[in-house]
Amino acid sequence: MSLRRTRSIRAAAVVAAGATALAGALVGTAQADPRYSTKTPTSKGFGGAVTSVDPEASRIGIEVLKRGGNAVDAAVATAAALGVTEPYSAGIGGGGYFVFYDADTEKVRTIDGRETAPKAIDQDAFIDPESPTGEPYNFFPERVTSGVSIGVPGTLATWEKALDEWGSYSLRKALKPATKLARRGFVVDETFQQQTIENQERFEAYTTTPELFLPGGEAPEPGSIFRNRDLARTYQQIAKQGTDYFYEGRLAREIVAVVQDPPKSPTTDLPVPPGEMTLEDLDDYKALLQKPTKSDYRGYEIFGMAPSSSGGTTVGESLNIVEQSIGKDAAEITALHHYLEASALAFADRAAYLGDPAFVDVPVEDLLSDKFARERACEIDPDEAATKPVDSQDVDDYDGKCDPGDPGADADVDTEGLSTTNLTVTDKWGNVVEYTLTIEQTGGSGLLVPDRGFLLNNELTDFSAEFDRDDPNRIEGGKRPRSSMSPTIVLDDGEPFLALGTPGGSTIITTVSQILFNRIDLGMTIEEALAAPRASQRNTETVTAEPAFISEHGAALGALGHEFTESAEIGAATAIEFGKDGLLTAVAEPVRRGGGAALVVSKSRPDKNGHKDDDHDDRKNDHKDDDDHDDD
Ligand code: GLU
Repeated sequence: MSLRRTRSIRAAAVVAAGATALAGALVGTAQADPRYSTKTPTSKGFGGAVTSVDPEASRIGIEVLKRGGNAVDAAVATAAALGVTEPYSAGIGGGGYFVFYDADTEKVRTIDGRETAPKAIDQDAFIDPESPTGEPYNFFPERVTSGVSIGVPGTLATWEKALDEWGSYSLRKALKPATKLARRGFVVDETFQQQTIENQERFEAYTTTPELFLPGGEAPEPGSIFRNRDLARTYQQIAKQGTDYFYEGRLAREIVAVVQDPPKSPTTDLPVPPGEMTLEDLDDYKALLQKPTKSDYRGYEIFGMAPSSSGGTTVGESLNIVEQSIGKDAAEITALHHYLEASALAFADRAAYLGDPAFVDVPVEDLLSDKFARERACEIDPDEAATKPVDSQDVDDYDGKCDPGDPGADADVDTEGLSTTNLTVTDKWGNVVEYTLTIEQTGGSGLLVPDRGFLLNNELTDFSAEFDRDDPNRIEGGKRPRSSMSPTIVLDDGEPFLALGTPGGSTIITTVSQILFNRIDLGMTIEEALAAPRASQRNTETVTAEPAFISEHGAALGALGHEFTESAEIGAATAIEFGKDGLLTAVAEPVRRGGGAALVVSKSRPDKNGHKDDDHDDRKNDHKDDDDHDDD
């Protein structure tokens, strides 16, 4: 769900008031603790950077970098902190995709940490047994609020894999700052309150979830402190016993118990169907190392997430089609027209071909080839928008020439949520992490693992609800549902140029493409590219667009046949651009979701001995007493 994230204005005062108080003191108001709530949409500097939607999480990442951790250590620590402050968007009950540029090998690697369907899941798992015509449950709130929507979580396995492969911290050490954050709490903002209120019916469908998120039956007030001691204990136990505790041990048993027999409230009207997850499903879970997708766009190399995400192929294909159909110097409206049309074509192919490659043969090379893009570009009429949905292109029958391709599968019906979170990190060695993580809907399945402080995902609702043998995203046991998450790293001449990502369901793909298009084709700075009004054409009759986009371009694009549906805001991106001589521009949203926190390690260039002539910013004296990062 797209919510305006308006962090409490009191937050700035909190930092000042709390700067001298003891960390972890048992107090009930925001004024007494050294919490960090300052929004920073852009920071320029050197020696490393972290950007996320949340100031506490970004600060934790920066501290890891300042203490010698690398980008992977900082990314895991930041993600664990987002599990505390953004519990409705991400956490160990969910999954995600981790993209890493390794400065040593100069290669981009990825981890697929997508949730997986239990082996015993039924192909009709989402069909409502009460429906006389065999219809699926409504997507929201019925289908998402269930045990049956819960996939085997991949987040913890992703953190472990990333640290094992490329990190320098142990998981124990990386979890420590977030453990402390969970214990001392964060300042509730209006978005958190609003998200809680919007989930009230779903949370109250269970006997357990309200205890944590609706204390006294109400959503927490902005300005109050939200502590999650259960999550602190869970992180601590994982730190001590390792991920086996989650995938094989006591916590595995607790997860399976609530998925198979959700603690349904006697007063709820929601059906809350149980799931089929077993201990064996958890034990078998693997975060997968895999090659990224790669496409070239106007001389840049774009690395993205391969299937099971549709992100890498769809971002790559739409930009390839743009490249094949117009030059970089096209007039703005012409460029936008081609961009929107290219996006619709790429989404048609996404619906036809994208699924878990362990189950379906995904023609990644075709979808990302210039020849395929050339053939697709032929379908763009420069003077008139096509009627949507457009057809997909047969990957076995194309020659890059302008003749009509075979019509393919129908367009997708998109029911993905608009939750999720994203972070971007780089370190002083030049390593880069782009990481998107989620529990799917805001609030996931709504099911809290009792006394554990985290929600379980509803990621399996990303499968098509009804089984169709020809659908690459049909529901199957052991399969990963198709994602849109698109963490992306762009290289220029083999060197990092840009890293970016965003939440937003299938608008993730268009937001990432549009930021790249804004930056590369329209010549905006990265700050402008990220802040610019967004439009999302996902092969639907109308273009979903922010009001400012419609007022700026609606009339001119309307004359070409584009129609618009307004959406208050699309996505909540983060990005880092790599400039000359080590200059980093870290960017978060200035307005969407109330703005994010982009921080750098140092605002000044290190001298040749590696010393800096300032601390990283005006928060110099904060957190002196923090022992967040004590070594093990
Ligand atoms: N479930 C979505 C996906 O994997 C992400 C959720 C969202 O961003 O809303 O694409």
